[in-house]
Amino acid sequence: MKRILAFIITCSLSSLAMAQLKSPQEFLGYQIGTKITPHWKVLEYYKHVSTQVPNQVKYEQYGVSFEGRPMYVFFISSGKNISRLEDIRKSNLQIAGETKGSGTVRDMPAIIWMSNNAHGNETSSMESSMMTLYQLVNQQNSASQKQLENTLVIIDPCLNPDGTERYNNWQNGILGAKYHPDLYAREHSEPWPGGRVNHYYFDLNRDWAWQTQVESQQRMKIYNAWLPHIHIDFHEMGINAPYYFPPAAEPLHEVITPWQREFQTTIGQHNAKYFDQKGWLYFTKERFDLFYPSYGDTYPIYSGAIGMTYEKAGNSSAGLGVYTDQKDTLTLVDRAIQHHASGMNLVEIVSQNSSKVVEEFKSFYTKANSGELASFQSYIIKYEPNHESRIRSLLDLMDKNNIRYYTAEGTFKGLDYSTKKSTTYTAKTKDLVIPGNQPKAALVRVLFEPEAKLKDSVTYDITAWSMPYVYGLQGVASQTKVSGIKPYALEKVNNTIGNSFGYAIKWDGFSSAQLLASLLQKKISVKRSDYAFKLNGEDFPRGSLLVMSSTNKAQEIQKSLKELADKHSVKVYTISSGILEGAKDLGSSDVKTIKAPKVLMLAGEGQRALNVGEVWHYFDQQLQYPIILVHPKDIGRIKWSEIDVFIMPGGSYPFLNDKTQGENFANWLRAGGKVIALESAVAQLSAQSWVKLKPVKQDTTAKAKEDPLKPYADRERESLKEYTAGAIYKVDFDATHPLMYGNKEYYTLRQNGTLYQYYKDGAGWNVGYIHENALMSGFVGQHLSKQIKNGLVFGTESVGAGTIVYLVDNVLFRNFWDSGKLVMANAVFQVD
Ligand SMILES: [Zn+2]
Repeated sequence: MKRILAFIITCSLSSLAMAQLKSPQEFLGYQIGTKITPHWKVLEYYKHVSTQVPNQVKYEQYGVSFEGRPMYVFFISSGKNISRLEDIRKSNLQIAGETKGSGTVRDMPAIIWMSNNAHGNETSSMESSMMTLYQLVNQQNSASQKQLENTLVIIDPCLNPDGTERYNNWQNGILGAKYHPDLYAREHSEPWPGGRVNHYYFDLNRDWAWQTQVESQQRMKIYNAWLPHIHIDFHEMGINAPYYFPPAAEPLHEVITPWQREFQTTIGQHNAKYFDQKGWLYFTKERFDLFYPSYGDTYPIYSGAIGMTYEKAGNSSAGLGVYTDQKDTLTLVDRAIQHHASGMNLVEIVSQNSSKVVEEFKSFYTKANSGELASFQSYIIKYEPNHESRIRSLLDLMDKNNIRYYTAEGTFKGLDYSTKKSTTYTAKTKDLVIPGNQPKAALVRVLFEPEAKLKDSVTYDITAWSMPYVYGLQGVASQTKVSGIKPYALEKVNNTIGNSFGYAIKWDGFSSAQLLASLLQKKISVKRSDYAFKLNGEDFPRGSLLVMSSTNKAQEIQKSLKELADKHSVKVYTISSGILEGAKDLGSSDVKTIKAPKVLMLAGEGQRALNVGEVWHYFDQQLQYPIILVHPKDIGRIKWSEIDVFIMPGGSYPFLNDKTQGENFANWLRAGGKVIALESAVAQLSAQSWVKLKPVKQDTTAKAKEDPLKPYADRERESLKEYTAGAIYKVDFDATHPLMYGNKEYYTLRQNGTLYQYYKDGAGWNVGYIHENALMSGFVGQHLSKQIKNGLVFGTESVGAGTIVYLVDNVLFRNFWDSGKLVMANAVFQVD
């Protein structure tokens, strides 16, 4: 009786609760899309729904954004599925072979993950997600109630809360009683840096695999703990485009399975049917390809899901309503309705194919674990003591992505990354072996294969990222299967630092630079050796650091060295004499003290936010060394005499052509300043009369030989001949120059054809250059490819007592080009 009574009370309570479930409009007091909803209020609505329908909605906070905003995922399904959520998750990981077991959950639901607002100024998806949440759990909606019996929907309302609130606060701060659809109204002109990017101006939709940003790091942990079967990433494009949904455009990476291709088409056709009924325009199979692995569609695909991007017109300039070129008014209301419709259509079609979706997910992982998805059966990264720091960084990246690696014995036949020739290699104890058969096999293949198959094809992004090149490591891609694997671990660095004459630190990776940066901030005096030397049988490369007891407070040094070197996994060696084998004596004036430079960069309107962000994040979070950011309009207020290093990432520098500002800057440089210029900043400097660097003249002979009567229809293919989206080139370099200290080989990511002429007659130093046949991986158009040879990518030039360091390619691209970080550190600390 008691039990029955309890049952009745529970029933009436839950129907009472349902009665209190409010639609977004009832809760917010306005129709979705007629106002911009702040992030916190969106979360309040989500929590309201989960309180009112607790048996169907659960949530979990998975992280906090850099600026401190909470990040959640919401789980929405039938009462039965929600009550066994953890069993479903565990079973799914077992199906994938990520954990042991056979995945015993019966009637496994298809897991759909919906990502919103990766770009914070693409407002409609977070807004529309509230409608989707409501419609899914609304008891009146019998269709969705039925669909939730065999689907589990996971919604992340906002992947980028800081960018979202940057945009939303700005919009809400300037909107009046009504919106103004004229494109020239201020509400359509978003201020720098825009809400697309996160706190550090990173594009989170390029960061899935690299996870340089805290938002990605935390999200990928929970994503990989779930491994959804379907992933939809909602975005917005320019205001004049209609709507985009899958199937995606070519190129598609070869590893993408027939099922992943086919089911995208099924989903697309299903959505098209609905859009046709509504008379909404859309396009498919164009622009958005599936190749670069760090997107919200490709990363899920390479992790076994159907990964998809959906794009609605909107974005930065759209506001609440805007006139388009077609003399139409695009409103946030309509943008949200269309994304909402796509979300609901997706749940419907997945529900119709639920068991097939689960079965195919299982089959993907069976293939992954058996090696069927591999193009190479194993990848061997050669261990070298002076590459340990790079290997540690690579291990960190693999850990973030649940990629398995081992140590293994045996002889491997395969392709050598540096020579691109076949080789036979016998693995040594500390070599890193990454099997091609493992749960993350597809991702392993995409990240490690020396070259992905890609013909003339327009892609949205770079076409090469093979890890050994990114990390500057030697390796072999092999067809030999791995056997006799053992867990791989590098010893934890635990320095014993006693009383000594001095200490030496090898300069062989970015961690050496991190240690230097932290020592300098502790005001510990650090010298460097421009000569390689030997100490108790150990080889120390050029640029190695020397910390002398005599010049510092001995006890403090020992404590700091121990603490900081351990933190950065850097070994400290003791020096017992002032004479170093192979180098100058420690007392020599040639052994220079490294100055703690005061570093400055412009950041504001006119700069490229992404490039500014790369440098900012590099100093602030990775090197952990201060950099002063100055608004470009305040350039006249800079006290140049106090500045040591001025960094110019790619961007626009009109001050160079301003008489007063340009002269102040040049005078500072002549008096001993140092400029580090990247990409387009190099071009702007080389246009100055007082600069000697000049670009290589473009070779147009190949173009001239072309048939003048070429068909109009081939125009797109023709334009590709002059194009590269990003490919990897081998850089030959002067290893004795401080800019390249710590590097044994270097590969650069070329995103255009620009090269500079070699300096002659000592006008500057030719430090890094591209010879002939230096292309290692990626797509380069046939005309452009002929031009990328015999030119300078890295160089330095003296201007009076000052120096300009030229980095023609962006060594900090998306902060994942690991070996570039050391080059930047050399430019800052080692180059005089
Ligand atoms: Zn976007």
